[in-house]
This record gives sequence, structure tokens and C-alpha cells, in this order.
Amino acid sequence: MTHTLEELIPDYIQGLPAYVPGKPVEEVEQDLKIHAVKLASNENPLGPSPKAMEAARRALGEANWYPDGGSKRLREVLAARSNVRFEEVFVGLGSSEIIDLASRVLLRPGLVGITSEGSFALFAIAIRASGGTLIQTPMRDYAFDLDAIAAAITPQTRVVYIANPNNPTGTAFGAAEFSAFLKKVPGDVLVVLDEAYREYAARFDLPDALKLFREYNNILTLRTFSKVYGLAGLRIGYGIGHPTLVAEMNKLRTPFNVTSVGQAAALAALDDDEHVRRSVESNRVERRRLFDELGKLGLSPVPSETNFLFVPFGPHDDAHRADSARSHGDLSSELSADVDERDAHRHAISTATVDARSRIDAKRLCDGLLREGVIVRPLAWMGFPEAIRISVGTPAENTKLLAALASALPRQSSRE
Ligand code: PLP
Repeated sequence: MTHTLEELIPDYIQGLPAYVPGKPVEEVEQDLKIHAVKLASNENPLGPSPKAMEAARRALGEANWYPDGGSKRLREVLAARSNVRFEEVFVGLGSSEIIDLASRVLLRPGLVGITSEGSFALFAIAIRASGGTLIQTPMRDYAFDLDAIAAAITPQTRVVYIANPNNPTGTAFGAAEFSAFLKKVPGDVLVVLDEAYREYAARFDLPDALKLFREYNNILTLRTFSKVYGLAGLRIGYGIGHPTLVAEMNKLRTPFNVTSVGQAAALAALDDDEHVRRSVESNRVERRRLFDELGKLGLSPVPSETNFLFVPFGPHDDAHRADSARSHGDLSSELSADVDERDAHRHAISTATVDARSRIDAKRLCDGLLREGVIVRPLAWMGFPEAIRISVGTPAENTKLLAALASALPRQSSRE
């Protein structure tokens, strides 16, 4: 008896949602015949590190050879910089590959992976693609509720995914919260701590995962070259975790997962402190400007520790917003360098702008911005039908976004 292809593919694969990337600039420019800017995928708008570009150009001349399949030099440098052993470093095809491999190593049908609602979509996809059962705990104030995650752990749980700061909401938790959480997590549950946006965080008390790793060897810390280093197109990231986990992930990855050009660029980017400093500083200034200007347009983004702003609309979100503002207000006095931003946020939501926001249709707003040549991210597929995410661009890109918003917003009332 023959089977159709559909019958041969396991349900847990067929049922997977496809990852929805931000729209490419070229596609929008071709379709709409306009010049477009992309503020949809949280890339570094200043470009790659100049040192990395030079190294990549040189490496391209030797692209006839296979790369070093073990990324040896890069692993050595990362180990030295992170004060860990070589065997504790895994280099991947973006941190995305490592997210996937962690689930593939640890899960199978009958076992459980946990993450939060409203976090990076690949966490849930990785858990489900491995045949494991996905549990998603609710968020609290647009942030990871670590207590809820700890409470959801059972003997079947093998892996927990956490992004700090979180994508798409831009919130972050501090060291005290994370330490309290780790005390509650059994040693045989892997905690994947994804720090893709770490460099952009304004709060100064982020957990020092690499130090905690000495005490808790069930932490796998993920970092990427896609954000502050500006190398998203080269696909390179790394993880620091238990040598056994690293060894098993090395068996599962494809033999030459990271290109020679990527390895060379990453090594050079690590040496370019000036590029990182400029990128963080530009983001700090422009994030603040966007936050303030969005407020003047009647919107109230969630205070961000990243290179993007999460902007919720709608009556459903407003309930969260009030809580969010209260909790951010409390946090800010103790923990954050960005007290003003949080105060502005609290003020904004207590004003009549709530009414204006609750009439905004996020999807229509994104379409309207697209027609103005600005690509931002609708978030319905990430679980927020009434929110958008705007990556912080260059000053000129942000000016274009603000002008486009000012013209598109009045047309977006879903009730009109
Ligand atoms: N983790 C988080 C939280 C992200 O937001 C992203 C990308 O947007 C990634 C990982 C993926 O990074 P990479 O490009 O290294 O695969």
C-alpha cells in the first residue's frame, strides 16, 4: 500500500507554523516602486563592523576551500573572552541553529519544553519540531514571568527557553530575579538564556550568565553576531554551555555549518570595540527619540532594553499597559538608568491617548506605513494582533518612519 506524502510526515511537523520573516526591502521596492526602509528585523542600521567587512573580503578570496568545520580559532577566542573552556563553546549558523539543536538533543515525544507566550517564535518552533510538547506560560506586564515558568516544570520537562531582553516586547529581567528562578529549576532541566540584545540593555543589573554558569551548569547562554555586530546576513552565533551538550550539538549540526567568510568576519568584529560602542550609542539616542516622538503621536511604546520598540494598541492591551506602567515605575527607581523614559510611559498611559490607541488597527497601520516606504513588523503571528514592533534605525530612517506614522495614523482608525 502506498502513502501520500502528507501521511508520511509526522503530525508535529505538519502542524508547525512557518517562521514569518520581516519583508525584504527589495520586494517592497519592486512591488510598490518606491524607496523603502526596513525597520522590521532588528538589524544594526549602521552596517557591519568595517574591520569585519575587510576580513570578509579577504576570506572570500579563499572561498574555494571548505571552512574550518570546527570553527576552532573563533571558539578559542570566544572561550578566552568569556573565561570558559574551549569545550564549552559552540559556534552556530546564527543563534537560531543553536535554539533548534538544544531541543533536538534533549526532546522527543512525551518530553516537554517550556517558554513564555509573547517571546521569540523559534523557541516554540524548536520544541514542537523535536516532537516534544510545548508549554507556554502567560506573560506578566509584557515580560517573562519566571515564577510561572518555574511552577510549570514537571519531571517531563527537559528545556526552558528564555530571552533576556525579550523579543518582541523589549523587556528584561534583572540578576536577582534570575538567581531566584535558577534556585527553583531542577539541575536536569536545561535553561537556554538567549541574550541576542544584551548589549543594548539600559538596565545595569542584567544577570551575568557566564558567571552563574560556574554554579549552574544547566545554563546554555546564547549570543549572536546578527545584532550589535551587524552581521545578520552572515548567519553566525554562539552558545556557552555544558561540554556534553556542546559535544552532542556538534554531532547534530551540519559539518560545515558556519562559512569561512562568517568566521573571519566574526573574529574581526570581536576586535572592533569602536563599532560596537557607536552602534550602542546611536541606538540609545535614537531609541529615546523614537520613544518620545511616538508618545507625541499618541502612542505609548513599552520601555525597551533592545534595538526595537514594541507598540501595543487596543483595549485588550490597555489592561496590561496599566500594570506594566506600575511595575516599570517601581523598577525604574531601583534598577534602571532610564527613569525618565519609564515616567513618560506611565504618564502617557494615564492620559486620553488610550482612547486614540484603542482604535488603531495594527495590520492596517503596517500596510499604511508600507505604502509610505517604511517596513515595520506586524505581530499577530507572534501572538499580539494589536501591536507592532519598530526596529530603531538610523536618524534619517527614524525621521522617515515618524513622518510616515504621522500621515498613516489618522487613516488607521478601525472604527472609522
Ligand atoms: N534570539 C532572539 C531573541 C532574536 O530576536 C533573534 C533574531 O531576531 C535571534 C535569536 C536569531 O538570531 P540569529 O540571527 O543569530 O539566528
